[in-house]
Amino acid sequence: MRIDLHAHSTASDGTLSPASLMAAAADAGLDVVALTDHDTTAGWAPAAAARPPELRLVRGAELSCRWETISLHLLAYLFDPDHPGLVAELARVRAAREVRAERMVALLRADGYDVSWDEVRGYAAGGTVGRPHIAQALIRAGLVPSTSAAFAPEWLGSRYRVPKAEIDVFTAVRLIADAGGVTVFAHPRATRRGRIVPDSLIVSLAEAGLSGLEADHTDHSPAERAHVRDLADSLGLVVTGSSDFHGTHKVVRLGAETTAPAAYERLVAKSSGVTPVLG
Ligand code: AMP
Ligand code: ZN
Ligand code: FE
Ligand code: FE
Repeated sequence: MRIDLHAHSTASDGTLSPASLMAAAADAGLDVVALTDHDTTAGWAPAAAARPPELRLVRGAELSCRWETISLHLLAYLFDPDHPGLVAELARVRAAREVRAERMVALLRADGYDVSWDEVRGYAAGGTVGRPHIAQALIRAGLVPSTSAAFAPEWLGSRYRVPKAEIDVFTAVRLIADAGGVTVFAHPRATRRGRIVPDSLIVSLAEAGLSGLEADHTDHSPAERAHVRDLADSLGLVVTGSSDFHGTHKVVRLGAETTAPAAYERLVAKSSGVTPVLG
């Protein structure tokens, strides 16, 4: 079984539609794929409608979270998408992302760069807006050659980065548990993305109901993967591996990293069944 538990679609900052992502997952030889768009479940219905019969679909999301002053991502799976508290938090975060992206565009315009909010909003096309959409405008304007170049410190990595509204990570873990789902800490040691949290926080999150840690991720070095694996083992957490596929916004391919079948089964068993795996 080939299992990839982290992929983005046009419902956030991926470049394949949810339906195309399902086809791409089957083409990549995956048996299980999770749809984990940033702060939204908008892709669930079109993905489910397009799912090839031989592909299992885990419906999820990647939640923008915060602990103290550190931003982090939680993968949430198999939760009730209509849970009122969760719906409200996701709506708040998405609305704030729009204001934030518009501010980033305003900062770029103030420095004379030819990008506009209308253009960026067009790239997001109704999905959760993120820095990759602003990167697209920078590429179109000939200012940077690639999305990764747009994340350099002099661009969206620091100079024009505006912080975004996020969900307190303990609130997020409890909300997802309350909504019948499970949570996995995404790329917890990805030092090249920014500041990372101490292991002591992961111990506390495990006590609060966190189910797993994403060890195998392209942003983790071999040493970082080993560290995450050891930490998960010591806390009884599930270890996952995933591509974090974003279509052409990133170079990684679907299925480039995978999760062991036993780990996947453990995660599914920890969920309440309110949102079953499809297939
Ligand atoms: P945002 O959520 O708007 O802060 O944007 C962060 C998103 O940008 C992440 O979820 C990734 O999809 C993407 N991203 C972050 N760093 C890079 C990078 N160095 N190259 C390409 N994409 C990146
Ligand atoms: Zn993303
Ligand atoms: Fe992430
Ligand atoms: Fe992601």
